[in-house]
Amino acid sequence: MKIVSFIRQYKNDTQRRVPMLELQDLMALYMGLLDELFFFGLLTKQGRRCRNPFRKGQLVQLQVIEEADGVRWGAWEPAQDQITLHTEVIDDGRIVELNMNDMVTTLAHEMIHAYLHIFSSGTRGYDVDVALAVGADDDDTESQRTRGHGPVFWEFYQHITGKFTLWIPESQELHDGAGRAERQEL
Ligand SMILES: [Zn+2]
Repeated sequence: MKIVSFIRQYKNDTQRRVPMLELQDLMALYMGLLDELFFFGLLTKQGRRCRNPFRKGQLVQLQVIEEADGVRWGAWEPAQDQITLHTEVIDDGRIVELNMNDMVTTLAHEMIHAYLHIFSSGTRGYDVDVALAVGADDDDTESQRTRGHGPVFWEFYQHITGKFTLWIPESQELHDGAGRAERQEL
């Protein structure tokens, strides 16, 4: 039934212009659906927080930021147990508004980072998948590109975007969004 909910929600949202003010709640709704579909409902489960066990709430928080602070579309921030999504980015010196497809696929991308980071162990050969940008040297573009994006990450990403194609084959925008999110350094 979650698949039906996802498809219905997506088709409904792509037929309207989603106001900025709604994006936080709407992306939270997609996060819940994607979590049930692909992550066993663990990321939005209520309880003690992962890195901050004295705080309660959803295991992974979501924050939608209604402005661009750079080129990043989104990020998984382990120190805050938080995924951030941007509604705008700076591209070639100009501010570009991201569409809903870009945001949904970016959300899926960041949820994979969160899931692998929290639930897999870096000692079992998943080092590249688990290692993230925290505290690392930001000058090294090559390591930025590969950090957190190992074979398990990409297999997971392709699994999810493959399901999008299967469920909503007519949406070229969603497939383009998945391709763009794949090429971004998120
Ligand atoms: Zn990434």
